[in-house]
Order: sequence, then structure tokens, then C-alpha cells
Amino acid sequence: MPRPWVYFFGNGKADGKSDMKNLLGGKGANLAEMNLLGLPVPPGFTITTEVCTAFYQNDKKYPEGLEEEVKQALAQVEAIMGAKFGDAKQPLLLSVRSGARASMPGMMDTILNLGLNDETVKGIIARSGDERFGYDSYRRFIQMYSDVVLDVDREFFEHQIEERKEHKKVRLDTELSAQDWKELVAVFKRHVLQMTGKPFPEDPKDQLWGAVGAVFSSWMNKRAIEYRRINGIPEEWGTAVNVQAMVFGNMGNDCATGVAFTRDPSTGEKRFFGEFLVNAQGEDVVAGIRTPQPINVVGKKHDNSALPSLEEVMPACYRDLVDIYQKLEKHYRDMQDIEFTIEKGKVWMLQTRTGKRTAQAAVKIAADMLAEGLIDRKTAVLRVNPSQLDQLLHPALDPKAKQLVIAKGLPASPGAATGKVVFSAEEAQHQSEKGEKVILVRLETSPEDIHGMHVAEGILTARGGMTSHAAVVARGMGKCCVTGCGDLAISYKERRMSVGEHVIQQGDWLTLNGSTGEVILGKVPTIEPELSGDFGAFMSWVDEFRKLKVRTNADTPHDAKVARRFGAEGIGLCRTEHMFFEGERIDAVREMILADDRKGREKALAKILPMQKGDFKGIFREMKDLPVTIRLLDPPLHEFLPHTDEEIQQVSEKIGLPFERIKKKLEALHEFNPMLGHRGCRLGISYPEIYEMQVRAIMEAACELAKDEGFKIIPEIMIPLVGHVNELAYMRRVTAETCERVLKEKGVQLTYLIGTMIELPRAALTADQVAREADFFSFGTNDLTQTTFGLSRDDAGKFLPAYLEKKILPEDPFVTLDVEGVGTLVKYAVELGRKTKPDLKVGICGEHGGDPRSVEFCHRIHLDYVSCSPYRVPVARLAAAHAALKEKETK
Ligand code: PEP
Ligand code: MG
Repeated sequence: MPRPWVYFFGNGKADGKSDMKNLLGGKGANLAEMNLLGLPVPPGFTITTEVCTAFYQNDKKYPEGLEEEVKQALAQVEAIMGAKFGDAKQPLLLSVRSGARASMPGMMDTILNLGLNDETVKGIIARSGDERFGYDSYRRFIQMYSDVVLDVDREFFEHQIEERKEHKKVRLDTELSAQDWKELVAVFKRHVLQMTGKPFPEDPKDQLWGAVGAVFSSWMNKRAIEYRRINGIPEEWGTAVNVQAMVFGNMGNDCATGVAFTRDPSTGEKRFFGEFLVNAQGEDVVAGIRTPQPINVVGKKHDNSALPSLEEVMPACYRDLVDIYQKLEKHYRDMQDIEFTIEKGKVWMLQTRTGKRTAQAAVKIAADMLAEGLIDRKTAVLRVNPSQLDQLLHPALDPKAKQLVIAKGLPASPGAATGKVVFSAEEAQHQSEKGEKVILVRLETSPEDIHGMHVAEGILTARGGMTSHAAVVARGMGKCCVTGCGDLAISYKERRMSVGEHVIQQGDWLTLNGSTGEVILGKVPTIEPELSGDFGAFMSWVDEFRKLKVRTNADTPHDAKVARRFGAEGIGLCRTEHMFFEGERIDAVREMILADDRKGREKALAKILPMQKGDFKGIFREMKDLPVTIRLLDPPLHEFLPHTDEEIQQVSEKIGLPFERIKKKLEALHEFNPMLGHRGCRLGISYPEIYEMQVRAIMEAACELAKDEGFKIIPEIMIPLVGHVNELAYMRRVTAETCERVLKEKGVQLTYLIGTMIELPRAALTADQVAREADFFSFGTNDLTQTTFGLSRDDAGKFLPAYLEKKILPEDPFVTLDVEGVGTLVKYAVELGRKTKPDLKVGICGEHGGDPRSVEFCHRIHLDYVSCSPYRVPVARLAAAHAALKEKETK
């Protein structure tokens, strides 16, 4: 039998269940599951994601049989509700909502109160005994439907409401009467006729199919596409449509609507956390227009709120809700994000899903749930997303720095951010493209602002609560965010805001503390995070599961120290060229480059040697006896020379060489393709004395530390940019000779390794030969990507974005390893290398070593280690554990 297009749920029964998310979307699958758990859910049905796919494949036409299935499901809903869709006396009203596989908050459209027309509104009035409620619902429906389905600009409607309020000299929508809304309904409908040339659809069936079509179409709207792009959600997943009987949170003061999390999504603290609004409908809470009330007394105290909580206002409903949330958390064994509506004192569940959380909360919840026996260690490790972990490692505000706090909002998403103020998403994007750090300030955010939020350092809003759009989205992005900061008087037009006596113009510096909600004038310095408690314990569980070792790329003792704190197990890449720029040594480096002969170069190199030795000692000391791979000089020499005439003049005076000579040398060093030019081991072959000096510095440092301080260092000397085994054979000989000479001079016995980077396709393809001369391989996937694609690392930024936008490449290959192309070379080289030397040590030190998906690949092809920047070390550790655990699962 073919799979149905429609899945019914209601009254404790459901055709679907929670593990059918691919077909029913997250919302639909969980609505089914909540029914099976016996929780109060308004009955309804889910039109599957397969219909969405068919809809797009078939020129926006529905598959055969769908209409009949919808009819049957609707009949079941009608039977449960004792009401009929389109009936004048007992009308059934519906909500129509999207629901993709992965949650996409606020990205697609929703329509409420569907089924209302001039006849059914009378039935609703009779049923509720409230004419005002009837017409208020009707006008809301016309507004939503016109906006979402008929594409009529919503501004007209809002303007009409404002005018009417002015006319009646009232301030709030709630002060308008039934007659007002009734008249506005007529005005709205006339406007729709005028704008679309067709009357507003009166037939509820037309309304329903219009709404279903609009939800499917919203899968392809701009903001949904943008959200998918940022979050890596494939287009082919499609969305489901959930059609449900309406329950009303706006039928009076014994009604309410709210959202809640079963634990605090910011900190992970174990407390029921949420917000609600009395006499309000669904989207009002998330829209952030009215300030919501805390759900319980604990929350009220926590947020210092003067508003009464649900626990106080509707204690029986609150108790029901507590029962429900505890049941849900126990069932799903994870923190849930729920939506509910209270209609005349009865709680209805509209949604449950795994709650989005900050990294801090993710670690705490995983640790707590493990302690509570809800989950095991493996699950705890899998509960924290490696890419998210980065958030925990970001700097916070320096508490010693002076801070002029000018306002306080809600601590919606933790961390600290400092940047220049902008008041629109467009401006945020524009400024960030110019390299500015920006703080996006808005009255409230909406999905249209998503691109601006993405590039901003932090987000500040005047309105909205802890579950407003800004708060939810920022938390998901791991961005610092302060919401509901009512003291801000923002003028978009004048591009400025005032806070008390302070006036802040666009471009002024502002700082946010997302953990306290403080808004601080000016730029405040930040400090590195301290990691302890849950984090330390969590990372120790992570290490139980991973197979890959994690090293770091570090060029200074400071970086090495930071990396060790994050758990680095050695240095996978120490780029020595960065050391050449420091302080006075750049003069000696320039002298060396500008020298006419070997003797001249050796003289200058002798000046650099003690400094390099000092650098290496510092690094070795920080890493104790952990392995340290040091790469010999890699970049083309002209990178060290001055470029403008002014700079040349300065250097000429400093090192006492004529201007013209420097200029000539510069011309001689000029290359058309420096990345493919005189760099890497090619330098070592042309000027062996440079590499000799570096090798001597490494070995002398290691020997002296061994002799004087008892270190047991095994230096790993790495030759860059090898393409042919003979290059490595030559360099190996020269290097080994220097090593032996130093060992003899120092009278020390010490093991050293000589290995190579594999960063050219030819080296990868002949890795069996290269391995003969190498004690280890380290994949330089930055250059390997550059040379495999023939794509310049330095210039690709100009056209790569277009490649990503047009989906010519699925992602930036310099960020996530191109497994099919570059990855095939890497895999092949590992196999060939180990054929020659079965115990060849193999790692990766390109930027991909800190990218979770690339780490997973490295695990699969059995590398020994990945090496990444210090702050990415915990990310790589966790990614390595995930890779190992997931592999076990699929076996
Ligand atoms: C590489 O090419 O991947 C690498 C690590 O070296 P660099 O980035 O210094 O060229
Ligand atoms: Mg390289």
C-alpha cells in the first residue's frame, strides 16, 4: 500500500509517532507522540513532507488522493470536536502551521482562526457568548490570511486599527469594541477586493487549501532559504503542514497562551522556565509586542518581575502544566521547549520539541541528566553539539574594566559583545562587510533581520521577552543578546537612540553583557573564559570515547599555554615564520634576505639563532614532554620585505643598505604566482643555511632543556610543501646532519623525527615513496585544498560566496574539507604511506582540523591526530568523540 499523505491525531490516538520526523516534520511527529502519551492536544492532522516535495516537483500541484485524505481526517477532527468546518451553528475553526524536520523558529508562516466567514463568525459568537471575541478573531484571521496567502501588505490593516484607536481616544487594541472590529472587518475585506481584484474567500474549504498552499510556498520564501543556508538544512527535506482544531487563549481572562522550557535554556539550571500572556493568541508571546509574564514564582524572582506569574494567577492550570512538562521530559529524556494554550481554565498542548540551548546549558543539562539517571554517559556526550561548544570558550567582559552601565534588559543569550551600533540588518551587513564589528539594535527582531543578526557581534532589543524571536534566534546562533530593554528610545529614522541622558548615534561603540542583560556605553575589554566544574567533567567523559588525539597549532608560548588548558595533547604545527616578524629580529631577517651570498646570510642568521632558540624553549616548556611539531620556514621571502617606497626608505636607514639595492632585490624576488613559487622546502633547497639555523635552534633548545631541566622532548621537524620524494630526501639528509652535529656538540642523547607536510597533490599521489623519507605525515589541507581545486586561498573570497549561493559548491572547502576530492587524496595518501611504513604517524594541521565535520572524516580514515587553533581544541575533542560514538552506532 502506498504511504498516506495525511496522518491524523486526536483523543489519545495517532497515525504517527515521534520517530517519524522526516515524514511528519518535528511538530507533527511530536503532536502525534503527545497524543499517544495521553496529553491534551487539540485534534488535527499532518500533511506530510512528501506532499511538499511532490508539490514542488509537480509544478505546485498536489498529488492525487490528497484531497480525499484531508477530507477524511477533517471528518475525524469534526467528530471529536462536535463541530463542523464551515457550519454556521457549530463551526470548527482550524490553525494551519508549517513544521519542518528541523525546527526553523518563525521562519515559515502560520494561519490561525481559519474557517471564519460572515456566517460562521455568528456561530463562534453564540458558542463563546462574546461578540467582541468573535469579531476580534475574524479580523485577526483576515489580517493573517491576507498577509500570508493573498500577499496583501499588512501595513494597511495596522494603520486602520491605529486610526480607529485614535478616533476613539483609546490606547490598547483591547479597548476597541465588537462594533469596531465588525466595521474593521468590512473595511479589511473591501481593501482585499481592491488589492487582489477578488473578494476575500468566504468558503472555508478554499481558505484551507489556500493556507496549505501558502505554507508549502513559504518553504521557498527568502527568509526560510536564508535560515536553511545558515543552518545547513537541505532544501529537499520540505515542510509538513499541521492542521489542528483551534483552541483559544483569547476568549477572556481565564484564557492564556505561553511558551516554556523544561529547564533554563540559557544556564541549564533545573527550573521550569517560561512566559505567558493572559487573554492572548498564539503568536503574541513570540512576537514580543506585549511584555509577557513569568510562568512561576521562581522565574518572577529570578527576573525581578513585578508581573504576577501563572502559578499565582491560575494555580490549577499551572499544576497541570507541571505534570505535563515532567511527563514530557521523562519521556523524551531531554529538555523540552513547549507551547501551550489555556482555554477557559483547560490546558492544551500545541507543541513540544527538543529545546534549543546555549552551550553552557547544554553541558549543564547533560551533566545533570546523567546524575539524575535519565541518560547515560554516551548520550550525555552526544547531547552537546561540537560546533556549539565554541560559545563557551569565548571571552567575557573584563570585570576589572570600567563599565558605564546605561540600561538593563533581559539576559537573553550569554557572552559579551562589543561593537559599533547599527539600527538595521542591512546596515549591519554593510558595516560588517567593511570589517566593522557591530551591535544590532532593534525595537524587536523578526525573521527578516536574520542576515543582520548573523553578522552582528551582539543583538539588543527594546521589546520582547526571553522567548522572543531575538532571544531564541540569538541563543541558537550562540550570540550575545539582550532583549526587552524598555529604557531605549530608538529612532530608526534618525539612526540614534537615547537612554536616559545618553544619546547614542549609529557608529558609536556599545557593549553588551548577555549574561546579566547590561548595556554598557563604549568599548569594554574582554577576558578569556575560565573552564571548570561541569565543563571539566564533561570533557573528561568526551575523552573516554574519542580515538583521535587532538593537538594544537601554536606559534607562541602563550598560545601553547591556552591550548594546554583546553586539553591539547601536543603541537601539530608551529609555524616558524611568525617568529620572524617579532621585534628586532625582522631587521636581521631582512639583512639575511638582502645579503649577496651565503656568508652574508649566515652572518644575519647567527643573530636570529638565539632568538629562535628562545622561542622554542618557551614552547617546549609550556608543552612539557608532549610532542611538538615545528615546521621550517614556509612563505616566500618577499613577504618579509617592505613594499612601499616609504617603508623601503625606513628599512634602508635602519639596516644601512642603499634604497636602490633593496628595491632591486624586491624586483628580483617578485613572483607572478607566489603561492606556487619560491616557498616551502624550495627555500631550504636554495638556501640550506636557513633551515640549518632553524634545525640548530630546535635541537639546541631541546638538548639544553633535556640537560638542564630534565625534559624528555622528541622534536618533530617538519618540511613543508614537498611534492617529490627527492626534495624530502635532500632536506632529510641536511636536517639529520645538523641534528647529529648538535647532539654531538651538546653531548646529549635525544630522539628526533623528521617528517613532512602533505599539501601538494603530487605528494599525496606518491605518498608511498614520500613515506620512505618521512617519520610522519601532516596534511596541510589549506594548501592541499588550494592546489587540488586550483583555487587561490587568498583570492577565492571574491568569488566563492557566489559559488555557495548558486550551490556550485555545497560549502566553503577551506572551512569544511571537501571529502570527495581533497579527502580522497588524503585517504589515498594515508593508505599509501602506511603501506610503506605501517606505523607512520599521520595527522592534519590545516584549518579543517578544528571543523567538526572534517574531524569526523579524519576519524573515519584513521588519522592519529588532528591539530587546530587553541580555542578549537575542545571542539575537536568533542567532534572526535562524536565521530567514534556515531561510528559505533552505525556498525
Ligand atoms: C596548510 O597548508 O594546510 C598549512 C597548515 O600550512 P599553511 O596554512 O601555513 O600554509
Ligand atoms: Mg601550507
